[in-house]
Order: sequence, then structure tokens, then C-alpha cells
Amino acid sequence: MKTALITGITGQDGGHLAQLLNEKGYTIYGIIRGQNNPRRKEVEAEFPYVKLIEADLTDQSSLVRAMMEAKPDEVYNLGAISHVGYSFKDPMVTMDITGKGVLNMLEAIRLTDPENKVRFYQASTSEMYGGTDYNRPEKGYNESSLFHPRSPYGVAKLYGHWITKNYRESYNMYAVSGILFNHEGERRGLEFVTRKITNAVARIKLGLQDHIELGDLWPKRDWGYAGDYVQGMWLMLQQDTPDDYVLATGETHSIEEFLDIAFNEVGISDWRPYVKQNPAFMRPAEVDLLLGDPTKAETQLGWKREVDFPGLVKLMMEHDLELEAKNVK
Ligand code: GDP
Repeated sequence: MKTALITGITGQDGGHLAQLLNEKGYTIYGIIRGQNNPRRKEVEAEFPYVKLIEADLTDQSSLVRAMMEAKPDEVYNLGAISHVGYSFKDPMVTMDITGKGVLNMLEAIRLTDPENKVRFYQASTSEMYGGTDYNRPEKGYNESSLFHPRSPYGVAKLYGHWITKNYRESYNMYAVSGILFNHEGERRGLEFVTRKITNAVARIKLGLQDHIELGDLWPKRDWGYAGDYVQGMWLMLQQDTPDDYVLATGETHSIEEFLDIAFNEVGISDWRPYVKQNPAFMRPAEVDLLLGDPTKAETQLGWKREVDFPGLVKLMMEHDLELEAKNVK
């Protein structure tokens, strides 16, 4: 039976991946950061089978110790400052964790695994493409498209992407990057626009709040379901040779379209009276449109997403209606 070490175990993808690997019979270690991490109890309650190790992506010696304790076959580096908007406010910390953290993890593997047995997955992102007109291919971004990140987050992730490739080429490591387009679901944090919307719409329906404040509504994203995407991560580590893959749905939708479906689910056809625009949620540089081309993952890995765009909004709405119903007195 295999052993996996996951950084970012408290995040959305960490949860989905822990579930998947547990179903597959893995022994799972999760790295958790900081004294009295407020998420620790939640992780322990929801994933009692995950063994937690205290370590930090900015502290390389702690990662070496984590490697020595877990002795993993596979390492999934999902830990990051992952919010694009926040990365403009804290670009240095974003670089330290989201960028240099990848190098710290790769070095920890190299130091503790001289026989090159460990397989490494790096969580790369569609934010590396930046959605600028000049580099936007018609069918969507694929593995050979140009990068032009438009946020400190995207720039830091691009460093992580290239250093992973560099370690693969330099040291013959099985190190791969999954370039994942936006993936959402019931575990998504409320700071991301999809979950912010489904949670607010549920609360509006239940009389718990009367409006939602958002930034720009025209940007388009290729939104998939996180539960489908962790399958792809696992598949990337099961191949004969390491390579990078895009995971996406191949469709792009605006925030307005997301609002249409979410409000429709609770019987509201005109959402405009409930939505206020607040410049605080707009970004210094915006990514207009993201669309991914998952052909390589579909043909070479046999990966295919199962949840479509309306299905994603519906499952998030159902979850938040049930969750928020507990707050109705
Ligand atoms: P991202 O694609 O990784 O930046 O994911 P987000 O869910 O944070 O943002 C998706 C898009 O929604 C971006 O174009 C944001 O500018 C836009 N957006 C509009 N209003 C909001 C808001 O209130 N919160 C967030 N997070 N994004 C918003």
C-alpha cells in the first residue's frame, strides 16, 4: 500500500484528495502549519485517517523532518497562499509560500530520497496564462501556450511551475505540474466568488441577508468541480513518464451566468436588485477570460470531468441551502 504526503491539507483540494486516497487505501500524512491552527480540529474530525505533521512550506528543515517521518511514495504540494485578490495585498508572503515553498519541498525530497523513488505533484494554475488577448488560443490554453501571469499569485505559481520542470530535467525526478483551471465545490472558501455567491444566495433565500456585494461581473472562468480534478492529480502520478497536464472543462462562463443559475435555483429570475458592486472586490489587474483545453489529459490520462457548469452551481447551492438552514431561528 502506498503512502502520500499532502501539503495544504486544510484547503479545498486537500480535503477532496484525502477522501480519494483514503478510498484507494493509501496511508495519508498531511502537513499542518502553525501553533494552534484553527483548522486542525476540523481536519481531525472530518479526516480521522489523516496523520498530521506540523511543518511549514517556508521552513525547509521542517519539510525534511516531515519527509523522514512520513516516508511517502507520493507528495502532493497543494499548500499555497491561493487567493489572487489577497496576493496583491501580501505579495512577499505569497512569493515565500506559493513560490519558494515549492523549491523548499523539492529540496526536502531530494535530500531524503537519494534513489529518486518519490513522485511529486505541483499544483500549477491557469492564473499563469493571465488571459491576455495576444496569447489566447481559440480552443483554450493548453500545455504549450504562452504564460503571462497578471497577479503576484500567478507570478509565484509560475516560479513553482518552472522549478518543478527544472528539477525533473536536472535530477531526473518524477516531478509533474497539473495546470488546473478554476475548480470549485462545497469545500471552496467563502473568499472565492463562486462560493461567496452560492452562500449569499442561500442566505438571501432564507432571509438571513438581503444583498451581496461583488466586484466585476464580466470576467469569464473555466469552472469545474474540485472532486473531478483531484482524480486528475492522482492519475498524473501513476504514469510511466512524468509530464505536465492541463485540467479544465473546455467551457467558459461569466460571473453573471453563475449568478443566473444560482438565483434561479431559489426561484429568483432577476438577481440585479440583490447584487451591489463594490470596488473593494475589484483587482489592480484583472484576468478577463480563462478557457482551458484538456485534450492531452483526456487522451493520455483517460481523465474526464463529470460535473458540468449547471451541475456545479446546483451542487454548491444545495450544500449551502442545507448549511445555512441551520442558522434560521
Ligand atoms: P480566481 O479566478 O482564482 O481569481 O478566483 P476568484 O473566485 O477569486 O475570482 C474569479 C473572478 O471573479 C475574478 O475575475 C474576480 O475579479 C471576480 N470577482 C468579482 N467579484 C468578486 C468577489 O467579490 N470576490 C472574488 N473573490 N472575486 C470576485
